Amino acid sequence: MLKGKTALVTGSTSGIGLGIALTLARQGANIVLNGFGDHEAPKAEVARLGVKVGYHGADMSKAAEIEAMMAYIDGEFGGCDILVNNAGIQHVAPVEDFPVERWDAIIAINLSSAFHTTRLALPGMKKRGWGRVLNIASVHGLVASAQKSAYVAAKHGIVGFTKAVALETATTGVTVNAICPGWVLTPLVQKQVDARAAADGVDDAEAKRRLLAEKQPSLQFTTPEQLGELAVFLCSDAASNVRGQAWSLDGGWTAQ
Ligand code: NAD
Repeated sequence: MLKGKTALVTGSTSGIGLGIALTLARQGANIVLNGFGDHEAPKAEVARLGVKVGYHGADMSKAAEIEAMMAYIDGEFGGCDILVNNAGIQHVAPVEDFPVERWDAIIAINLSSAFHTTRLALPGMKKRGWGRVLNIASVHGLVASAQKSAYVAAKHGIVGFTKAVALETATTGVTVNAICPGWVLTPLVQKQVDARAAADGVDDAEAKRRLLAEKQPSLQFTTPEQLGELAVFLCSDAASNVRGQAWSLDGGWTAQ
């Protein structure tokens, strides 16, 4: 379905981003990976699906590095057709103790990076008459949790950004939507599981159960593969008139 298209998935060396990259590759899309840590293993995993795969190590908190990554995609892949703004970090602390440097990093990586990739990818998408921008927001783009002020601010921001750019592109072949996952068991969440286990003096399984029971009525983690399949749907022709939406996949979290 996506043969001949190129997808950039930011923050795709692990977790949700890697899951989405693999699902898009299974549909035939060429993939550009991005993120920190080992990238050779994820690259090989995508390549095994028979698509062209590239990697760029741009730090998503740095506009100049994002510009270099987008130029690399234009040069090596002929442009970015599917842009998945996924890179993100978390920090948990009450607002009065929140480290200023962590606030700035979360706003830069979880919000401003999507502005930079989008402004650079859109002209090519419009020229080619087709494009998909998928912003990986969060339930925290719709509701809040205590001690996550920067993350909640950034995720609400990206939902607003999604709506504004969807309106600007409404008469074009480019759609812009957000995906709002609840708890997904990735390295980002495992850190919160570990903190919960230490705070409550319980084991890993019990800490996971308590985290889920607090917020996610299904008592099940959403998986990167499920998020990938939603991304595939949003890339399909059936979704060509889905615009400016924030689509939850959260086990009922935001229904409460
Ligand atoms: P993760 O920690 O597994 O992956 C994050 C990815 O972002 C990694 O590839 C990492 O290298 C990359 N990254 C971090 N800082 C970067 C930077 N400065 N420049 C480039 N890459 C950078 O996390 P995840 O849980 O897969 O999260 C992915 C996205 O999904 C984030 O935006 C997160 O907010 C969102 N999300 C996660 C959950 C969850 O429960 N895990 C829920 C809702 C939303």
